[in-house]
Amino acid sequence: MRLAELYEKLETIGVLTFSTIHNNEVHSRSAHFNGFDEDGLYFRTMANKPYCRQLLETGKLTVCGISDARVWHDGASAKFPPSFTIRLIGEVRRVPPEEIIDKAKTNDALKTAAEDIVNYPAMAEGNFVMHSAKVEIFDVDFEKEMRGNKVYRTRFAFGGASYNPAGVRITDACIECGACKEVCSFQAIEEGTPYRCIPEYCDDCGSCLRVCPVNAIQESLVF
Ligand code: SF4
Ligand code: SF4
Repeated sequence: MRLAELYEKLETIGVLTFSTIHNNEVHSRSAHFNGFDEDGLYFRTMANKPYCRQLLETGKLTVCGISDARVWHDGASAKFPPSFTIRLIGEVRRVPPEEIIDKAKTNDALKTAAEDIVNYPAMAEGNFVMHSAKVEIFDVDFEKEMRGNKVYRTRFAFGGASYNPAGVRITDACIECGACKEVCSFQAIEEGTPYRCIPEYCDDCGSCLRVCPVNAIQESLVF
């Protein structure tokens, strides 16, 4: 997926959760991206905020959000509308004010940031770019209103980041009994020698691991 497509999806969500690390604690707040180009995804804060200092100290940021956050209960089960979540785990750097002003000459999305640099001294040192990240888009349709699968996951990376594929891993110890396919309500397992997990459909729930008679299924890797 190109950054332009990713940015369009992030704009669809609008306000996202941005998380940093400080003294071994996770600190989260609501924020948004305000532009992109070949160098990455741009966002901003103000110079005095602890958030700004945490970004400078660690250079690390995670971001996540969901396109439709509604949830309701129907009897014992929770119901969710079709939606998608995005999460990014990445590296950031501060962008000098001159660079933002220069980029805004050809990048309309950065024009407001460039104007604010002139109008608000605190904004001048608060521009950042997420220059590399691993990204997951997790499209959910738990009631299968739009398609045959409850989830569809897409993973990719930009700026030199790397990631592990989603889903459990079935080894050659598989005896093809079919128990995992039967228990998987996500239709994420297909027959074969050995059986195979389809990463895009797998929810990492773990039901299949618990029914496999020969422990042929390995846990999902960390993203
Ligand atoms: S972890 Fe869950 S979703 Fe993934 S293959 Fe196993 S049962 Fe299916
Ligand atoms: S439950 Fe285990 S042995 Fe049976 S098909 Fe699945 S992976 Fe293979």
